[in-house]
Amino acid sequence: MSKEAFLTKEKAEEIAAKIPTPFHVYDEKGIRENAKAVKEAFSWNKGFREYFAVKATPNPYLIKILNEYGCGTDCSSMAELMLSQAIGITGEHIMFSSNDTPAEEFKYADELGAIINLDDFTHIDFLEKTIGHIPETISCRFNPGGVYQISNGIMDNPGDAKYGMTREQIIEAYKILAQKGAKNFGIHAFLVSNTVTNDYYPALAKTLFELVVEIQKETGCKFKFINLSGGVGIPYQPDQTPNDIYAIGDGVHKVYDEILVPAGMGDVAIYTEMGRFMMGPYGALVTRAIHEKHTYKEYIGVDACAANLMRPAMYGSYHHITVLGKENEPCTETYDVTGSLCENNDKFAIDRKLPKIDKGDLLFIHDTGAHGFAMGYNYNGRLKSAEVLLHEDGSFDMIRRAETPKDYFATFDCFDILKDMNYDVPKN
Ligand SMILES: *Cc1c(COP(=O)(O)O)cnc(C)c1O
Repeated sequence: MSKEAFLTKEKAEEIAAKIPTPFHVYDEKGIRENAKAVKEAFSWNKGFREYFAVKATPNPYLIKILNEYGCGTDCSSMAELMLSQAIGITGEHIMFSSNDTPAEEFKYADELGAIINLDDFTHIDFLEKTIGHIPETISCRFNPGGVYQISNGIMDNPGDAKYGMTREQIIEAYKILAQKGAKNFGIHAFLVSNTVTNDYYPALAKTLFELVVEIQKETGCKFKFINLSGGVGIPYQPDQTPNDIYAIGDGVHKVYDEILVPAGMGDVAIYTEMGRFMMGPYGALVTRAIHEKHTYKEYIGVDACAANLMRPAMYGSYHHITVLGKENEPCTETYDVTGSLCENNDKFAIDRKLPKIDKGDLLFIHDTGAHGFAMGYNYNGRLKSAEVLLHEDGSFDMIRRAETPKDYFATFDCFDILKDMNYDVPKN
């Protein structure tokens, strides 16, 4: 199988003539088709809602598109809550799934009417002290501990994860929350990241459905929703088979009918908090080859760096690369594709087979639509890039400008030394 860029060389050059490289570009058509598919795949469930994980792609223009398909937001910080409010997404359309939460964030989430998802048992008291009451609708995050296994083997190790409450804690939590006046309950769990299998959500659903039936029996708490959170993955590697969201929706439906319906819980809403699956494949980092170097290896230097896309440096993640205009040329060369940071892990690809790259070529780094731009940072004084939205008709808009040196220096405003600084980039 091959991975195709959603952008031609001509279109990329047309954008680059207006918005200098590097930039992240998003495919509106792909975002819309996928959001529609997610909505359809879970349409069997009356209360279904996807709460898009804002941290994955915190751009209001993109989140607004998802909102057209009924998506709310999953927030975990003050700024994410503010962003959500600015877009006009408030109330129960916000899921506040945070951990290690500062008091003022609980306060603001409550003011917005967000659903609060408690990560820790002690947060019951903390929340009550902070906002003066326990909300009528409230959720708790579950961590089953141990290793999480489904049919195709061990997937991850929740026992090592900082998130959520143990089984004993969560049952006790629901009892206490009910005593304190909560009426509608939710449960949440995020056990494995980037699962490229249609079995994860159904397996997680089974775990949570069985638990919820038990908790409802033991505590009398009425469950309003079950939140499967994120973790649905995308095929970063060209030989991976993409998830089929319809098969995933059907799989969850099946266990819903097997477990919840017979227990008289056929009115429970299914919520999701997908980030990667909603946006990942529909974003790309476009960067220009500006340098080549031949030492012990063959290097291609580009004008983007790990500050624009951290995943390869941070996790050793694979991101497929298409050399635009050379889609059909044979991959005769073996390159390390590098950025400019003074860090040897600043490599977008290592020993990658690619067509011969010439200086000036545009590289399309795939699957940066989630956890891409968002993880950017300013090491080495590198600035964050622009974000561009490519519309269905081929037109495009800048949906975030690139940072300038003025942004980089903005937080020094209190110092006289920079008062008369000229922020313009020298031009030659
Ligand atoms: C990161 C995160 C998500 C989104 O995860 P994806 O892997 O992008 O789907 C959802 N919920 C919570 C609480 C998260 O921390």
